[in-house]
Amino acid sequence: MRGELRCPLCGFRTVPSAVPLPCPTCRVPLDYRPDPPAGSTAAGLTGRGVWRYAPFLPTVDPITLGEGGTPLIPSLRIGPRLGVNLLFKVEGTNPTGSFKDRGAAVLVAVLRSFGARAVADDSSGNAGAALAAYAARAGIRAVLYVPAHASGPKLAQIEALGAELVRVPGPRERATDVVREACAKDPDLLYASHNASPYFVAGLTTLAYELGEEGRIPDHVVVPVGGGGLFLGLVQGFAQLRDRGWIGRVPRLHIVQPEACAPLVRAGGGGDPVEPDPRATVAEGARIPRPKRGREVLAALGAVDGDAVMVGEEEILRGQAELAREEGIWVEPTAALAVAALPALIARGTIGPGEEVVLPLTGHGLKAVNPC
Ligand SMILES: [Zn+2]
Repeated sequence: MRGELRCPLCGFRTVPSAVPLPCPTCRVPLDYRPDPPAGSTAAGLTGRGVWRYAPFLPTVDPITLGEGGTPLIPSLRIGPRLGVNLLFKVEGTNPTGSFKDRGAAVLVAVLRSFGARAVADDSSGNAGAALAAYAARAGIRAVLYVPAHASGPKLAQIEALGAELVRVPGPRERATDVVREACAKDPDLLYASHNASPYFVAGLTTLAYELGEEGRIPDHVVVPVGGGGLFLGLVQGFAQLRDRGWIGRVPRLHIVQPEACAPLVRAGGGGDPVEPDPRATVAEGARIPRPKRGREVLAALGAVDGDAVMVGEEEILRGQAELAREEGIWVEPTAALAVAALPALIARGTIGPGEEVVLPLTGHGLKAVNPC
């Protein structure tokens, strides 16, 4: 496979493998660095969606359900009211309803190329649904380890897509331990960790490629952050575009977390990104008290001159309602984190009047509606 794996903190390098170990020194997950064939240019791209950027992804046979190629839609009311040029990247139009399809398509394709017959992950959310869909498409078994109390539309989606569910009693982190143990015991079961795999994040870089190809690089991108994969994918993608001369500069990228669980925002001034007392939040996709890539996110945030803000539950729900009623775009509460953060980012002067701001709207509203 073309490309290499690299530690984002110390620069340790190694060749791609199916389930790479963390950096031996820093103990953090590695990143995938592409090595496109000579002469790969924007003008030479073909097709649409994630695999349009195949020269800049791991070299594998693609698996596709039509992921990526999502619309970039101007705000008609929220942006003008706030005095900024606001655009929405509507990721809810992906096949399973969230941006995670970009990562899962690439990750499952890579694992299949390494001969995987079964993949496992610990997610009862959007990543689990995306993995279940792409595993089904690839003809690979998917086993998802979920907290015993998990329920809701995402779990229904995972089950409908034929993944096997293993319910794990205890706190959320316990599911991560159990999936590791299961993969260690069964050599046929590969750990397809959406939080740690370099290939998942590589798939997410395509969101930056799409924005770059639109030709107008925004001043700011505001990103809801739980594990930090989307933020890192965007940072890596924009850096690659800049290094290849496709764009002249990288936008400032800011992170948003719910007050109920904001380990990265609270650690912004130094210290470990750990939330000691996570509370329940409507932004369920961002309730990750110990993000595996937390140190990498904080390092990258400094490199892109990013700000970090947290928002309360009422602000999140208000942002969700405004997007739906004023713009016609219904998102799940986690996706509304970005719009909820705009007033604070403007008030503190991070975003100036008339500047261009892109919000990736990460997941569809149907993802968080409880069935009657
Ligand atoms: Zn390292």
